[in-house]
Amino acid sequence: MFKRVLIANRGEIALRVLRACQGLGLETVVVCSEADKDTEFLRLADVSVCIGPAPLAGSYMNPAALLLAARATQADAIHPGYGFLSENAEFAEQVATAGLTFIGPSPDCLRTMGDKIAARHAMLNAGMPCVPGYDGVLPDDDHELAEKVSSIGYPLLIKAAGGGGGRGMRVVENREALSSAISLTQQEARHAFNNDRVYIEKYLGHPRHVEIQVLCDSHGQALWLGSRDCSLQRRHQKVLEEAPAPGIDPALIAEIGQRCVKACLDIGYCGVGTFEFLYQDGAFYFIEMNTRLQVEHPVTEMTTGIDIVQQQILVAGGEKLQLTQDAIKSSGHAIECRINAEDPATFMPAPGIIRRWTAPAGSGVRVDTHVSSGFRVSPYYDSMIAKVITFGADRDEALSRMRLALSTLRAEGITTTVPLHQQILIEPEFCQGGVDIHHLERWLAEKS
Ligand code: ADP
Repeated sequence: MFKRVLIANRGEIALRVLRACQGLGLETVVVCSEADKDTEFLRLADVSVCIGPAPLAGSYMNPAALLLAARATQADAIHPGYGFLSENAEFAEQVATAGLTFIGPSPDCLRTMGDKIAARHAMLNAGMPCVPGYDGVLPDDDHELAEKVSSIGYPLLIKAAGGGGGRGMRVVENREALSSAISLTQQEARHAFNNDRVYIEKYLGHPRHVEIQVLCDSHGQALWLGSRDCSLQRRHQKVLEEAPAPGIDPALIAEIGQRCVKACLDIGYCGVGTFEFLYQDGAFYFIEMNTRLQVEHPVTEMTTGIDIVQQQILVAGGEKLQLTQDAIKSSGHAIECRINAEDPATFMPAPGIIRRWTAPAGSGVRVDTHVSSGFRVSPYYDSMIAKVITFGADRDEALSRMRLALSTLRAEGITTTVPLHQQILIEPEFCQGGVDIHHLERWLAEKS
């Protein structure tokens, strides 16, 4: 097992990982950019190092700077958090070449799952249900092309193999629009992801986004830790998440959980990961696997009592999982609201100084945040400033605790998405549970 972990990230997740390391008795190195130098939690680490200027390419996404910092501080492992370099196979390789442990899956797994076409093939081979689609070579001839996809049925969704973050997708309503939509998506994908390969899926009309958290060690043990529902999205970005996914037969979820376990064993996966599915009319369809810790991991921690980040660190250190599938029980219900420094109506980023910060507290309330009074929300980075998570014996209790929690949150000096969450939390259809991925945008359009 390693002794000193460098945390190659910022914000709430850097603090979350720091706490996990400290809980395991490991030493910590935190890195920061010049824009983040005054962040309060940096003082909690054993060592903190400024690695470069505010722009990501010079700091948090600069492999050379991170490796230099790791060498200089004698760290022997690197935790990448989420985003940034967390799913970058080359970085994982560079970390290993430098003689350090990358806290994440193998470069091979990162590479396969990072390419949505390769991931789809791997999952089809593992017997995973995927969205009906076509991922072969696309013929140049329009007629041949239309024939290839005719059995899928319109509308279709063109997806970039290298896409991510909700980008690189285009809906096609009919055959006439098909070839130009493919060319456009290819062009965009070439610019955005340096990879113009695209594939085609059936565009599902009213699915929910349901995902399964997995945890695997390097000794051939794989576990699934329950389901999450992340259907409340805007522009394919998650806004609010919950565990478990409400209203789905637990036996069906257990069946898909077991399939995820089998898929992990098939691809030799080690670490934490998430299988994302669309769920429509009682069926699950795999869409992608995230090969890292996710923003919404706390809702699963709250319902299972498992510290997912500590487990992730332990398995990366070669430890055998002490947990067994039988011992994992999901109980109660947890909800997470992502609080962003944004205008709650226009979603424009609203950076600035938080003059006074008061986080909610109380029974069943958890707040994961790096901010404090006087914190400057930088325009350089993601606008999420906190995650408020509530837990209850059932969904209603988790919801009412969230309403109370948000009513006590204060972020004076900036605008946040708290008012949006407060409206969502009293919206009747959401309160009933099980809304689809279009619900939030539909509701936002109706109310404006
Ligand atoms: P990304 O890697 O960009 O997050 P995903 O494949 O995970 O891309 O899809 C993001 C979101 O796009 C999903 O949560 C869902 O809302 C929507 N989506 C993806 N595939 C489909 C599909 N075949 N039909 C309808 N919506 C889809």
